[in-house]
Amino acid sequence: MSNTVLVTGASRGIGRQIALTLAENDYNIAVNYNKSEKEAIALKKELIALGADADCFKADVSEFYEVDNMHNNIKKRFGTISALINNAGISQSVLFTDITDDMWDKMLGVNLKGVFNCTKAFLPDMIKAKKGKIINISSIWGQTGAAMEVHYSAAKAGVIGLTKALAKETAPSGITINCICPGVIETEMLGSLNKYEFANLCGEIPLGKAGAAKDIAGAALYLLSDAADYITGQIISVNGGLLI
Ligand code: NAP
Repeated sequence: MSNTVLVTGASRGIGRQIALTLAENDYNIAVNYNKSEKEAIALKKELIALGADADCFKADVSEFYEVDNMHNNIKKRFGTISALINNAGISQSVLFTDITDDMWDKMLGVNLKGVFNCTKAFLPDMIKAKKGKIINISSIWGQTGAAMEVHYSAAKAGVIGLTKALAKETAPSGITINCICPGVIETEMLGSLNKYEFANLCGEIPLGKAGAAKDIAGAALYLLSDAADYITGQIISVNGGLLI
């Protein structure tokens, strides 16, 4: 088993920072992206400059055949990966009554089926190796619902359920699976909020500010470390106290 971690949605935001933090800590990185090829290639260069082995793999995580193809390519390039971080995600702010079938399917397709697809593709190798770690990035809004984001909240709550159930199933094979629930983290995903809405949201956070992608990357680094070997099926909230 190689010391390689696949980070889905690593081209931007939280995934990008997780990849950088792990590379600084001697992991090799398989960089998954969907649309942001330029950013993924630039990240690969940064990871190599940090001393890691890294390569880019394009796949829309909502499409199993693309994920399956990515799995074959990663296996050829790196062998069996030691960890999978299901981070790729999309968000959308819309009233429940305005959510169309297509919006629902796309939201669940990327945020929940994407986790299913990637886990389905990479788990069998881990089971064979009797070793491996999976981290799913859910959301505070999957723990407590968010108005105007019912489809997002439903998908992210699904990721929490998947994590807890699969942790029980994979534990006998020596594989841990945990979930990180970010709160308000400054990335392009918050781009739909105006300055006033963003300030209001930050005003509700007990620690008094939005989080940074580094705060999530730190939790991922810990979960991948030997210190977290006895932790499985857990939901780690990184939210500045916004939900206690
Ligand atoms: P972001 O800055 O918008 O980045 C999203 C990433 O996901 C991009 O790298 C994008 O890749 C990738 N992605 C989107 N659709 C994809 C698909 N179909 N297949 C493969 N990759 C895809 O968002 P972020 O803030 O970093 O969010 C990362 C994760 O944290 C998400 O799961 C999100 O729900 C969760 N989260 C974020 C916050 C927050 O406040 N930021 C809070 C709670 C949870 P391309 O650009 O290459 O398509």
